[in-house]
Amino acid sequence: MKTEGVVLKSKVLGEGLRALSLYTKKLGRLNAIVKVQRGEFPLKYEPFSVSEFTLSQKKERFEVVKSKLLEENFPRNSEELNYRAKISRLVIPLPIPGNHKLFNLIRNYLKVKSEFELAYTMFTAKFLFVEGIFPQLRKCVCCKSKEIVGFSLEKGGVVCRKCAKGELLSWNRELSALTVKLTKEPFKKMVGKVKKRELKKVKELLLSHYAKRIVSD
Ligand SMILES: [Zn+2]
Repeated sequence: MKTEGVVLKSKVLGEGLRALSLYTKKLGRLNAIVKVQRGEFPLKYEPFSVSEFTLSQKKERFEVVKSKLLEENFPRNSEELNYRAKISRLVIPLPIPGNHKLFNLIRNYLKVKSEFELAYTMFTAKFLFVEGIFPQLRKCVCCKSKEIVGFSLEKGGVVCRKCAKGELLSWNRELSALTVKLTKEPFKKMVGKVKKRELKKVKELLLSHYAKRIVSD
């Protein structure tokens, strides 16, 4: 099976053997082992590289039998490393099937070289949307009222005064509108358009929502 894939994580298992966490276009999220020549330091198996992999499967185990580097995203500084590692960490926990849209999203966002807070927040929003775990932001998640007073992590959406029970995150309609915009618009269009404080609120909400969903699933 030949497929394009992104290396999310790479671990040296021993002399000449590596374990790769991949997201592939055709097979989705999978782990594979690869034999590396002694003394070789192939960029195609480094985290965040995009390669064309030929995989063989024996029972549940994948092995990389051939590969060709398409593009490397080797971090040039700690900001790039932190940003790309955070993107990887969002994708790694989910058993996601192959999806062209998601593959292209990951590939495009790994290439970003500045405005990391904005890029990470936008990637998270788009990722949750493609994955079908985007929070309910427009109307009360219980009764569909538009008078929202906060966000309930428990319920996975905004709530109105009547339905508000338990702990709520502070949230409003403007933040909902901003989140929807960050989900729909391309990254370049949003550069310089979002205030730091609001961006932080959106990021924290999306990450908390995601953490809650992967724990309860
Ligand atoms: Zn309600």
